Amino acid sequence: MLTFPQNLAGLYIDGQWSHGPQALSVINPATEAVLAQVDGADEGAVDLAVAAAHRAFRQWSTTSGSERAGYLRAIAAGVTAQRERLVQLQACNNGKPLFEAGIDVDDVIATFTYYAELADGLDARLDSPVPLPTDEFSARVRREPCGVVGLIVPWNFPMVTTAWKLAPALAAGCCVVLKPSEVTPLAELELARIIAACGLPQGVFNLVCGTGLAVGAPMAAHRRIAKISFTGSNAVGVQVMQRAAETVKGVSLELGGKSALLVLEDADLQLAVELASGGGYFNAGQMCSATSRVLVARPLYAEFVQRLQARAEAIVQGDPFEPGTEMGALVNRVQYQRVLGHIEAGIEAGATLVTGGSRPGNLPTGFFVAPTVFTDVPLDSALWTEEIFGPVLCVRAFDSEAEAIALANDSDFGLVASVVSADAARAEQVANALQAGLVWINAPQVIFPQTAWGGYKQSSLGRELGPWGLQAFQEIKHVVRAM
Ligand code: NAD
Repeated sequence: MLTFPQNLAGLYIDGQWSHGPQALSVINPATEAVLAQVDGADEGAVDLAVAAAHRAFRQWSTTSGSERAGYLRAIAAGVTAQRERLVQLQACNNGKPLFEAGIDVDDVIATFTYYAELADGLDARLDSPVPLPTDEFSARVRREPCGVVGLIVPWNFPMVTTAWKLAPALAAGCCVVLKPSEVTPLAELELARIIAACGLPQGVFNLVCGTGLAVGAPMAAHRRIAKISFTGSNAVGVQVMQRAAETVKGVSLELGGKSALLVLEDADLQLAVELASGGGYFNAGQMCSATSRVLVARPLYAEFVQRLQARAEAIVQGDPFEPGTEMGALVNRVQYQRVLGHIEAGIEAGATLVTGGSRPGNLPTGFFVAPTVFTDVPLDSALWTEEIFGPVLCVRAFDSEAEAIALANDSDFGLVASVVSADAARAEQVANALQAGLVWINAPQVIFPQTAWGGYKQSSLGRELGPWGLQAFQEIKHVVRAM
């Protein structure tokens, strides 16, 4: 049983814990009980954190890659040692089942370990010669840390989105001000304690809890932050970009999605149903990568809908701490009401509700919405075009591969896609035609630190993970010398 002090310090600045002026209630979405009060910050704390990061940057930016790799490995080891506690924190603050929370923590460990490897390799490549068409000059290129960076993360995979930004930022030699979501700060607070125990120099890593307006907005506008890396909603992403424009800051954005899963007529039907269920109901559908538009070849359509309905109705939903639980609660009342509002509007727009669509009868408390399937969804309805961020799948039949690709690409978003087919060559061709940053073929949504994360169109600006995630925190400098 996890217990928390009355008021948790929500600020870790310059190596010191302190309290902020705004008490934020953190809840357990499966029970609606208040877990803790976290003291959130205001703009003044952002200034202090940025100043501390600037002081630290002078030294930290000159450390060797292998030195920084040592710290990243120590963080990975610290997370590994605290794995069980972190899993429980994710489960109680997010409402996600223990097995999903475990996947999150393992991803964090893999990400810090991967960027430790990349940091190790930086020293050998720090000054690379650049061939020139003359021997009157020589040139070399350096990749240097871009400065103090602001990391702003959402609530759906809190520690994971943090790790995808924090590990490459530290590997690159940047100093960091991290703002967790005010909805789910508990795992990040624990992560900060782990980082503090790793002996990073003071000011290299700072954490400032607080609301978007009190902390996130001043970070986006801050003159001394060189870059903002943001994950969250499109509406806020646009505001961050607008504020960052005032000081011509670098911005990376990971935003929403409305991704498609294509079931071709030669697909293994049961595999397709499993992948649709995972792509729609993992994390209770609160995934930017949810494949919420399921496109099925007409000959398979009727049986697919039947089997998906059966699968959705068999999902065990409830207490995240029960070992058999497959799906947990939505993160809070706002999200719960938002998802139910989308469902209601979809029915009004003429869509057919096949299953779900409301709170399960056996769960009177907590923000639970049953796994939901819709068919006959009008192409111009919000249910089809907008991100719902809940356990809602819309299934539609198609008559040709070209139609399926056109339907999949007809979206303002382009984060991911999935293809299910027994013909590998054909599936690869379809993958090439899809406007998405990551396409899975006959695979669940596996994400490796080595492969990029981010999408086309309004889903993203830039890429995280892989070497691209590291480059996002580096500046390029050329030095040209007369010989
Ligand atoms: P959100 O945009 O409301 O909040 C995200 C973060 O921004 C939070 O820390 C919040 O406090 C902060 N914020 C809010 N207003 C701000 C402002 N004016 N200036 C600066 N910061 C501000 O998103 P959310 O509700 O926490 O998360 C859900 C959204 O995140 C979904 O829309 C989802 O698609 C998106 N998301 C995208 C990805 C991806 O990788 N593409 C991953 C996870 C979540």
